[in-house]
Amino acid sequence: MIYKGLIKKYAAYLPITKATPSLTLLEGNTPLIKAINLSKKYGVSIYFKYEGLNPTGSFKDRGMVVAVAKAIEEGSNHIICASTGNTSASAAAYAARANIKCSVIIPSGKIAYGKLAQALIYGANVIAVDGNFDEALDIVKTLADKYPITLVNSINPYRLQGQKTSSFEIVDDLGDSPDYLCLPVGNAGNITAYWMGFNEYLYKHKCTSLPTVYGFQAKGSCPIVENRIFTHPETIATAIRIGNPVNWDNANKVAKQSKGDITAITDEKIVEAYKLLALTEGIFAEPASCISLAGILQKIQLGEIKKGSTVVGILTGNGLKDPDSAINNIKKVESIACDEKKIKEIIFNE
Ligand SMILES: *Cc1c(COP(=O)(O)O)cnc(C)c1O
Repeated sequence: MIYKGLIKKYAAYLPITKATPSLTLLEGNTPLIKAINLSKKYGVSIYFKYEGLNPTGSFKDRGMVVAVAKAIEEGSNHIICASTGNTSASAAAYAARANIKCSVIIPSGKIAYGKLAQALIYGANVIAVDGNFDEALDIVKTLADKYPITLVNSINPYRLQGQKTSSFEIVDDLGDSPDYLCLPVGNAGNITAYWMGFNEYLYKHKCTSLPTVYGFQAKGSCPIVENRIFTHPETIATAIRIGNPVNWDNANKVAKQSKGDITAITDEKIVEAYKLLALTEGIFAEPASCISLAGILQKIQLGEIKKGSTVVGILTGNGLKDPDSAINNIKKVESIACDEKKIKEIIFNE
């Protein structure tokens, strides 16, 4: 059957009515890629859900398509969000598609270049503020309360509804839930949405079990792990540079109910995993996404992920989003004379 987008495919599971406009950029339907080399090395079946192949390069499209469709259904013609990057790229794209206005507030200087380029090229009204994400979100909430403009951050419940469809796809592909689900945690919307998705599928007898969920925060930005607000969160993984997560309580509930946990990973380990994923599996994901692999490796080492089990790591965003992180973490390329002998020497001596 021809794929017609997430709202059509999972209409029975979404808060969709006859009045909901059909909106899609053919988001979702992303590949579950087996990590053949890493699976062999560790004796664990490791799969990556490559959400970086969504239309704007991150999982945010799953929730945004539903949030924007519902905003239009409810008569809105202007959406707003605060964003570390991917939410703004996604909101801007769907607003363009639906011919409505989009305003995005970003923390200045802390946004990956590809994401900023996207918000601008899709025509959003981009406002950079001297402040962090949490401060930007406070302003956006106030504006949405006072004026006729729809908030599309993950406080908007339709976002999580759309995002839960990734769990459905994983079960549809594997035939059941994996033993473990590993993913980055920023505002903790995604971890909440995945848990919702697996539970709904269990209830509908589409799967027979639920995964143990391991969420990961960056060490310099781990409010849930340390149970305190981070007023100055810092990490190379800018997509999860969140000091006061919106879905904080939900994240703890998921960890508890699934017998998993939320732990912290250093930037050093994130960068190692970022390079390892590309080098060993040919998959380029942005730093925040690679915390999934760093976390999987840590859990294997601790014996918490058992040999012979099945693990799914969520790769939330595409590596091309953040070219600076790649360039800054690999060997510099120096140019030399365009000479056959010299080039031959280098190629065969590497
Ligand atoms: C938004 C985002 C996250 C964090 O998701 P939350 O729902 O905020 O926990 C992780 N990785 C990427 C690439 C993102 O864009």
